Amino acid sequence: MSITQSLKQYQMFINGQWLDAHDGGRFDSLNPANAQPWASFPHAQEADVDAAVQAAQNAFENPAWRNLHATARGKLLRKLGDLIAANKQRLAQLESNDNGKLIRETLGQIGYMPEFFYYYAGQADKLEGQTLPLDKTDMFAYTTHEPLGVVAAIIPWNSPMYLTAVKLAPALAAGNTVVLKPSEHASATIVELMHLVKQAGFPDGVVNVVTGFGADTGSALTKHPLVRRIAFTGGGQGAKAVVKNSAENLAQLSLELGGKSPNIIFDDADIGSAVNGVIAGIFAASGQSCVAGSRLLVQNAVYDEFLSALKTRVASIVIGDPMDPSSEMGPMATQPQLALVERMVASALAQGAQLIHGGQRASVAGDGWYYEPTILAVESNQCSIMQEEVFGPVASIMRFSDEAHALTLANDSEFGLAAGIWTRDNARVHRMSKAVQAGIIWVNTYRAVSPMGAIGGFKASGYGRESGIDGVKDYTQLKTVWINTSSEPMVDPFTMR
Ligand code: NAD
Repeated sequence: MSITQSLKQYQMFINGQWLDAHDGGRFDSLNPANAQPWASFPHAQEADVDAAVQAAQNAFENPAWRNLHATARGKLLRKLGDLIAANKQRLAQLESNDNGKLIRETLGQIGYMPEFFYYYAGQADKLEGQTLPLDKTDMFAYTTHEPLGVVAAIIPWNSPMYLTAVKLAPALAAGNTVVLKPSEHASATIVELMHLVKQAGFPDGVVNVVTGFGADTGSALTKHPLVRRIAFTGGGQGAKAVVKNSAENLAQLSLELGGKSPNIIFDDADIGSAVNGVIAGIFAASGQSCVAGSRLLVQNAVYDEFLSALKTRVASIVIGDPMDPSSEMGPMATQPQLALVERMVASALAQGAQLIHGGQRASVAGDGWYYEPTILAVESNQCSIMQEEVFGPVASIMRFSDEAHALTLANDSEFGLAAGIWTRDNARVHRMSKAVQAGIIWVNTYRAVSPMGAIGGFKASGYGRESGIDGVKDYTQLKTVWINTSSEPMVDPFTMR
């Protein structure tokens, strides 16, 4: 048997059925820990995408979903959360196999996913409209939050389950139907999730998955005329293509994109705590995190002390097999991502950056795509490594003199996703939190997430927010209903009063 035949053969989930692509096309997913193919997925073409969107549209119009009251929708979401909790170990192993993320990270993240479904389950029947205090005494008006229709959710490879949950749970809570397109590099958990969707009791067609690449499958989905809302998480290039596609169907859009987030360490910070926060920010998930704290800005007075403490801890990071619970850093998710990290580090060094630690492929047994945790010291915020997203385990570090200087450097970026501020000065916390241009500010912590906390970016980091109390409203449209309460008949519109 050839390798390809021995791979796990996944199918797509359309209208409650397990299907191959119409033309039988497939692609392989590689395990980043050994560079070997381990699973094969259908490569959806336009006809498959059309079948999925039609199924979602039919489900949206089907009374089995359309007339299901909001409390019942909430119960289905709660059931799905329970099923994810019961299957977290299996899902975490699959995700680690697929994208190379440490099992300790995928277990933690997927173990927390049910909370997102419970949170939005609770919101389903609290989407209250308003009665309007009108300036017309013979009218009564009220508003309702209506679902939009078919939602296309485009997911990247770094946290497939998490980035699906933050779209799927609010979209379903609001009464929409969904077509998910996971990344070509990490589709397994999203396809597996469909077994749980079915088991939870969602009607056929309410949730569908098409697998394939961005340029064809993703493009066909995001320009489909029946799609009313697109939730995209990924890089800037894909985002621009999706925005253009949405000109075809005028679908509403949210874009969760990348970042070059600063971690700002003031001279009154708890240095040990800041080192831990910085490591969590840039070396967790091997730096393949949208909120990676990749720019370290450190005040002159503590620069040497901080860098020395950081170097000591980074030198002891255990790089290894993602399935080994003792590993602290795993591989890059794809070979091109590894090559990109190598190119970006080489370019920074050519521009005068100083290599403090790492800068090489890590030697781990096998052919996996491992890269060392890397620290580069730079003197200019214009060095490309301070401006461009690496999406790898590379921290660049730079000195600042005072608060004004820190703020200038922090905001001198096309991105604005997240920022960390490390200080014991409460007044400064408020000044900096207000002035730093980013959608998420973490003070004396980093990477804290919750279903209650909205995530999203300023500037080139995107628009729209995911999670949080308003997350569900972003999947609705407002309807205003006017009722004439006058006992008099309506007057002839051409008679002046
Ligand atoms: P990517 O843009 O290459 O792919 C993301 C998804 O978009 C994939 O499913 C891909 O197939 C699809 N896609 C690509 N081109 C498309 C097109 N023309 N039309 C429709 N779909 C298309 O991103 P990636 O490499 O998978 O993920 C890394 C990027 O995602 C980084 O920039 C990272 O910062 C960002 N990200 C952002 C967040 C956030 O919440 N802000 C979270 C995770 C990742």
